[in-house]
Amino acid sequence: MTPGAMDEHYMRLALSAAEQGKRLGEVAVGCVLVHQSGEVLAIGHNETNCSRNGTRHCEFVASEKVLCRANGPDLLRHSCLYVTLEPCIMCAAALQHLGVPEVVFGAANSRFGGCGGTFHVDKITAEGKGDSGCNAARPALRGFNSRGGILAEEAVKLLQDFYKSGNPNAPDVKRHRPLESDASAGEMEKEVVGTVELARKDAERSRIRSPHVLHFIDRHFSRHFGLVWTEERLNKERRNSQEIGTEILSPHLETFFAPAHGFQAEY
Ligand SMILES: [Zn+2]
Repeated sequence: MTPGAMDEHYMRLALSAAEQGKRLGEVAVGCVLVHQSGEVLAIGHNETNCSRNGTRHCEFVASEKVLCRANGPDLLRHSCLYVTLEPCIMCAAALQHLGVPEVVFGAANSRFGGCGGTFHVDKITAEGKGDSGCNAARPALRGFNSRGGILAEEAVKLLQDFYKSGNPNAPDVKRHRPLESDASAGEMEKEVVGTVELARKDAERSRIRSPHVLHFIDRHFSRHFGLVWTEERLNKERRNSQEIGTEILSPHLETFFAPAHGFQAEY
């Protein structure tokens, strides 16, 4: 198979997973983890709605399936992730910690993407530390290769179809707006903001199970966003959040824009 044909082959598997998730009422994003040998290690779609757990993005779902295998961590370090939507910042950080060396995505995620959409989590490198801030050792971060645009239109179409039919998990008060591309972005914004908030709560509840998630959210995310987001950008996001009526976004960003609120940056 040529590299192009291989990309398309595995992305079609990821799209099938996204479609399956959509039929189950999940945000239509799917992925497949492929070992360097060509073996498909795991396929996953989002499970946030059925589990009511904001960390259950397809990347987490698929990675966890591989981690259940005896040599799972090693398999992940020699695999490539094909995912229909650019991984969000949370997932990109998880992939960093797992040591997945390559990510190929479909549609870019210009609002929450962690592979350049909003921030290059994939480019972060850091020495390992014995104490990450939540009593868990952290391996060195080596970054990972990422590229996108593979069957992107089909990935976007699946998401648009999902949001047109309405996110069944969205409270009525929040389900809204004409069903067009802007509306999709608004829905996605709420979804992802809610997801990060839930991820924080989930991580706080199960520190041992998700120490890196908590580490990332409390350290990398706040710190890097604090550095990257200017006051002007923050004000724009505040206005956006008021326009689309989220209650979570503003306080959420207040927390993450911590340098203005006493957060001590260590980098
Ligand atoms: Zn994600």
